[in-house]
Amino acid sequence: MDTAYRPTTRTTPTRYRERAHYDRKTVHRILDEALICHLGYVNAGRPVVLPTTHARLGEVLYIHGSTGGGPMLAAKLSGLSVCLTATLVDGLVLARAAMHHSLNYRSVVVLGTARLVEDPAEKRRALGALLDHIRSGRAADCRSPNARELAATAVLALDLVEVSAKVRSGGPVDDPEDSALPHWAGVIPLRLTSGTPQPASDLDAATPLPAYLAAAVERRPMSGYSR
Ligand SMILES: Cc1cc2nc3c(=O)[nH]c(=O)nc-3n(C[C@H](O)[C@H](O)[C@H](O)COP(=O)(O)OP(=O)(O)OC[C@H]3O[C@@H](n4cnc5c(N)ncnc54)[C@H](O)[C@@H]3O)c2cc1C
Repeated sequence: MDTAYRPTTRTTPTRYRERAHYDRKTVHRILDEALICHLGYVNAGRPVVLPTTHARLGEVLYIHGSTGGGPMLAAKLSGLSVCLTATLVDGLVLARAAMHHSLNYRSVVVLGTARLVEDPAEKRRALGALLDHIRSGRAADCRSPNARELAATAVLALDLVEVSAKVRSGGPVDDPEDSALPHWAGVIPLRLTSGTPQPASDLDAATPLPAYLAAAVERRPMSGYSR
């Protein structure tokens, strides 16, 4: 398999093309780190963009929802043409000039046709991956869905074929003549971290907090991220 997705006219940004990335490693890391994504599709002639959770297994991205949900119903017929995005905001970029303010970010755009997952084994695998995406280890540490719950849940699969990533990093880029202005300029890093677990009000006090939930999780990639 190629180490990179092949850029197409649809996945080539018009602006800042040097910020575009197509290598699978970069794309996978962004998708795996992003807690949520946004699914865009056209419903009855109108564009809709819905936030949702996702999980990646190899080169397939899965999302799930109620069988009565809009995208699930739309996909039933002949697949659903979608644009799925995942975004990580890494910092506020503050420039001296209003015009040059920005954000540091890593984002992925996936274009394609999502299909409804019919195979029960693939559906179970996808649902497990969706749980583990939220917190690794969770799928094995809860009651599995029963037949009724499985029947009420639809899973969509989207192959990673037409994919782009875009990354902005580094400080503000002010015009040289503005560098002496008295305004603070630089980057305020941002990161998403988990807080202290709060037990459910009806949790048996004897139920221990599992180790995989006790450690604070920071949704940031390990070092070596390719930019
Ligand atoms: C958090 C965040 C904030 C942003 N804020 C702004 C803003 O305020 N103003 C602004 O102009 N832009 C902003 N951007 C960048 C924006 O997403 C577009 O990249 C930008 O508008 C230029 O689009 P374009 O015309 O080159 O893309 P187009 O030419 O319309 O896009 C063509 C293709 O390029 C690829 N592509 C474009 N953008 C991205 C992306 N971000 N990630 C992955 N693939 C991409 C897609 O495959 C897309 O189909 C922001 C991005 C992020 C992640």
